[in-house]
Amino acid sequence: MKLNWKPKKLTLVIIPDANQSVVRFRIPHLFAYIAAACLSVLLLISIITYVMHASTLKKASALQSKLTGANQQWSAALNSKDKAIEQLQNEVIQLSQQAEQMKTQVEEMKKFESDLKSIAGIDANTTGTAVASTSSSTQDKPADADGKLPTLDSGIGGSPNPASQEDIIKLGEQTLASFTALNSEVKELQTNLTATKQKVADKQQLLRITPTLWPTTTKVVTSTFGYRTDPFTHRPSFHSGIDFGARENDPVYATADGKVVSTGSDMFHGNNIVIEHSKGLRTWYMHLNKILVNKGDSVEKGSSIGLVGSTGRSTGPHLHYEVLKNGESIDPKPYLKANRKDE
Ligand SMILES: [Zn+2]
Repeated sequence: MKLNWKPKKLTLVIIPDANQSVVRFRIPHLFAYIAAACLSVLLLISIITYVMHASTLKKASALQSKLTGANQQWSAALNSKDKAIEQLQNEVIQLSQQAEQMKTQVEEMKKFESDLKSIAGIDANTTGTAVASTSSSTQDKPADADGKLPTLDSGIGGSPNPASQEDIIKLGEQTLASFTALNSEVKELQTNLTATKQKVADKQQLLRITPTLWPTTTKVVTSTFGYRTDPFTHRPSFHSGIDFGARENDPVYATADGKVVSTGSDMFHGNNIVIEHSKGLRTWYMHLNKILVNKGDSVEKGSSIGLVGSTGRSTGPHLHYEVLKNGESIDPKPYLKANRKDE
């Protein structure tokens, strides 16, 4: 292309080939300016478009990488949350197992309380529900042919059967219900145990002040309570106590906690001790060789209070032992139930 500048018009000459004729276009001068201006505008628009496109591409690339980063973060967060959910689900299962173990322990404690009452001789009516529930829990466990419960081992197996989310939610609800029920059962058990503790303490106190102990080591009864032939006069007479055969200077024990209300000696009873217990009960120990306590002493059940002898109206070493209720001699035999702790 060749521009031929003239005052008013421009000639555009096109030479296609050496053997072909030249083509000439005459265009107005103004038109050339307008064309040049249009080309400049187009060029400018192209440059601006290119710059904007390049900027957009850069932004898109930055957004893309940002999106990729965010996506990775979300993936990591989702993965972490999945793991957390799995861990929580496993914890729900563990809690469920713990609830079952606690149920067993609570049943065992109920049984323990029931046994405690039974041992202490306390009315077991109040533990009826505990015994019933204990028996039902043991019935749940399968027994073998001998009726024995199977022993536990460490083997675990079975086909894979993944728990669904609904299963876990249901298990969680059941576990919560189990813990709620256990909570009220434990509270009830606490109340019952407190009452049982008090009853056992009362029973122990009553036992301490009731003359249930044998007063001699030998436990040989040579004469029972009631009518007999008097060993001196050989005439029918009433024997108001029990005679225990023993060697001289064998220990004589207080048969219950109490207070020594008298010690003395006379021709019939010999050296003798009277101990007051409670509920109008007194015990009387006669024919002692030696008295080891003083009037006013507090004595404990099973403590040594004197030595066997044959003082007073006696044919040989023995202990005449009497139990008095409101001043009346009663048969001591029904009271003689307990052994000393050191026996
Ligand atoms: Zn006697």
